[in-house]
Amino acid sequence: MRSIKKPIVIVGAGFGGMTVASNLKRLNPSLPILVVDSEAKFMFKPLMYEVLSEELSMWESAPEFSSIFSNLGITFLRNCLTKIRFDEKILEFSDDLNIGYEFLILCTGSVSNSFSVKGVDENCYFFNNLNDLKKLKSFLQKFQNNKTKKKLFVIGAGPSGVEIACKINDIYKNKFDISIVERSNEILGRNKIFNREEAEKALERRKINVFLNSTVQEISDQKISILDDSEIKDLDQDVVIWTAGIKPNLPYIDEQVTQKDGRILVNKKFQIDNFLNAFAIGDISIIKGMEDLPLTAQVAMQQGNHLANNIQLLFEERDLLPFDFEDNGEMISLGIGEASISALGVTLSGKLAFKARRLIYASKMPDIGKSLKSTASWLFQIKSTMNNSINKNP
Ligand SMILES: Cc1cc2nc3c(=O)[nH]c(=O)nc-3n(C[C@H](O)[C@H](O)[C@H](O)COP(=O)(O)OP(=O)(O)OC[C@H]3O[C@@H](n4cnc5c(N)ncnc54)[C@H](O)[C@@H]3O)c2cc1C
Repeated sequence: MRSIKKPIVIVGAGFGGMTVASNLKRLNPSLPILVVDSEAKFMFKPLMYEVLSEELSMWESAPEFSSIFSNLGITFLRNCLTKIRFDEKILEFSDDLNIGYEFLILCTGSVSNSFSVKGVDENCYFFNNLNDLKKLKSFLQKFQNNKTKKKLFVIGAGPSGVEIACKINDIYKNKFDISIVERSNEILGRNKIFNREEAEKALERRKINVFLNSTVQEISDQKISILDDSEIKDLDQDVVIWTAGIKPNLPYIDEQVTQKDGRILVNKKFQIDNFLNAFAIGDISIIKGMEDLPLTAQVAMQQGNHLANNIQLLFEERDLLPFDFEDNGEMISLGIGEASISALGVTLSGKLAFKARRLIYASKMPDIGKSLKSTASWLFQIKSTMNNSINKNP
């Protein structure tokens, strides 16, 4: 069995980092593991819509890292990685702290990408992290008592765009005329057909306009300029939410690391070229020969699980195994109390899908006291709803 003097450092404690850390601790409790994150709270991003609608409270979907990791018996440090000296195996942090590592695991996720479209950074709201959520929520609340309808645009008809449009419609009934602007010729272009069709119906029921084949040219404080087939339209806007893209969050990486499409290129064991004791997983990485993997929590968690097993193999001085992705399907929320699921040959929509989605996510929350409490409250809600419907339909 191999022994090490310096810790295994995991930078980024989102879906990928949390999964590696907890599995590694379970497989080998004596390993020195240090987890570093620039934020104080874990954000369960797929549930951000439910926090916006107050179907869930903040503490249920964003527990404190300090309590998660102290429950797991893992050392946690709040700090921001700014540079890596790969040759010396040293990490530099924003407050001038330097930390040496034996193995490094990078999983710092992604940030919104405005693609340098004029006016986006200044005039749009985003929906990618806890700060975006708080900012958008407090802005939208100002319209709660408005008498006239405001014009709200969501840019991008991927899952985030469709989910947020449906949710806002249901929260702020009759407060907004909502439109989605999409560059391609369909919504949810990379998603399962069943979910796409359910989403189309959900948008139609809510009278949400969808502009397809339409590219945003510029956004000013009052107008949005869109190019469709042949002409540029300048439309009035009161709120614009940009969900049109993300980019890997890698300000600490320089040219010595091989990249592809802006992400860190790794082999199927997640090792970074030329630095085999450093690994990258989740949204920041792209695997040679598996370039089409989606950027999802499901992928990041499977990678985290596989990497923990591989690191344990390293300590047992055995060969690392290549990663293989298992598609367990996808779930999208479609307004308050509704969702659509397409997974392992099963499709489900409406209220039952919403409850199943919550239950599945509850089981994926980090294993800590508060989230267990939250799981229990969800289970209770589901149980009592089911009991009610059983009672009503003898
Ligand atoms: C609104 C929304 C809804 C989503 N819904 C779904 C869904 O339904 N299903 C699904 O599978 N996926 C969903 N996703 C995608 C999913 O959340 C991501 O693919 C997943 O979070 C990626 O995991 P990760 O570990 O790579 O990064 P993350 O989970 O984003 O974690 C990155 C962590 O790194 C930290 N960090 C960043 N930079 C630094 C630094 N320099 N130093 C220290 N720490 C740093 C961050 O604070 C963060 O905690 C959704 C995303 C969003 C935004």
